Amino acid sequence: MEQTIQAAAERDTYIVRCGEVALKGMNKPYFERMLVERIRRSLKKHGSGIEVRRDEGLIFVRTPKGLSQGEIIRDITRVFGVASISPAVEIDIEEGSAQQIMERIGQAAAAYMDRLIAERGIKTFKVEAKRANKQFPIQSPEIGRIIGAKILVGCKVLSVDVHEPDCRLFVSVRRTRAYVFEQKVSGFGGLPLGSNGKGMVLLSGGIDSPVAAFLMAKRGMMIEAIHFHSYPYTSERAWEKVQELSAIVADYCGRFTVHSVNLLPIQEAIVAHCPEEEITILVRRFMMRIAERVAEQTGCLMLITGENIGQVASQTAEALVVTDASVQMPVMRPLIAMEKVDIMDLAKEIGTYETSILPYEDCCTVFLPRHPATKPKLAKILESESLLPVEELIAAALSEKTSTVIFPKQQ
Ligand code: ATP
Ligand code: MG
Repeated sequence: MEQTIQAAAERDTYIVRCGEVALKGMNKPYFERMLVERIRRSLKKHGSGIEVRRDEGLIFVRTPKGLSQGEIIRDITRVFGVASISPAVEIDIEEGSAQQIMERIGQAAAAYMDRLIAERGIKTFKVEAKRANKQFPIQSPEIGRIIGAKILVGCKVLSVDVHEPDCRLFVSVRRTRAYVFEQKVSGFGGLPLGSNGKGMVLLSGGIDSPVAAFLMAKRGMMIEAIHFHSYPYTSERAWEKVQELSAIVADYCGRFTVHSVNLLPIQEAIVAHCPEEEITILVRRFMMRIAERVAEQTGCLMLITGENIGQVASQTAEALVVTDASVQMPVMRPLIAMEKVDIMDLAKEIGTYETSILPYEDCCTVFLPRHPATKPKLAKILESESLLPVEELIAAALSEKTSTVIFPKQQ
């Protein structure tokens, strides 16, 4: 036992809560295993000696001391499926009487509070105890009272405040270990990556599509992306911006491939042969078709866009219907009913916003009609398309496609 306590003192422990994964019924072990694997991968860069284990509905991460707690917490909270995480002090309770165990927990709790007094000058506290192990002979409220009393004895400057304490100290008594912790840092929730197939994101350099990619990945979907440019009308810098955005997205969903396709010949053909007000919708239909082809080749089950109903001319209900009619694959639009401010807030939270607003031209703005059709009719659009060698244009665009693997920014 001596050895275990020593080992516990030499490492940092984190309690990870699993959010929706915990509701998965029969499939719960499958999702939990996946989540454990994702957490392991997210911590790989911190070196060896990191342990990630499931135990009765929670995941425990143990790392050698000396690693940055802030970085570990950041990396774990970015793993989809993680509801929250708490750095905790771990106390071995496999041996000893209930009294002795309470004494050990009390000592650890007092030492923990001493640190908070030194670091933050806290003056008041409240203990909230939970006995997950119902075999333990002391009930939760009593555990709270006993540990509270021990803290008062050990830390003379502290007093109890049950309403607005400076520190809410949680004590959790489990089967073989007890835990003392304070904060819960929220994760994004969602489901572990890889639990929901793969989707092809149409990724522009704008604000919306990276957020759309993030939201689908958060539901467990692996992503791959396609970007359209109109080089030389769009610049090399615009492409760099897309790669930069992708790297930020990859911080959450792991490395992925971005396919890049030049749309210029298609845009020129449309401008030359079709009515000006239809340019936008026609271009969008080509984008969708090309994205669908690449999605099929790469095992993606659906397309994902950052469209949002009513936001711009190409995103009216009628335009969305006509856009959808160009492909067979389901098109996911996770932002469809969100408010722009909320999309912007989310972009800021995940860190894509600042890059998205850099002022580089997008292929859609290269041939912008003065008065785009806001209520396109499919029959009319099909008529215009019949003036174009659709298949040839698509094949030519695909033959020039390049593919780039994007690695996470924070390796
Ligand atoms: P975003 O901020 O994502 O660019 P937006 O509000 O500017 O969106 P549009 O430019 O009309 O809207 O694009 C709608 C959606 O079409 C985008 O969210 C994206 O999924 C896709 N899209 C637009 N331009 C491109 C592009 N150049 N390459 C790939 N996909 C694109
Ligand atoms: Mg855009």
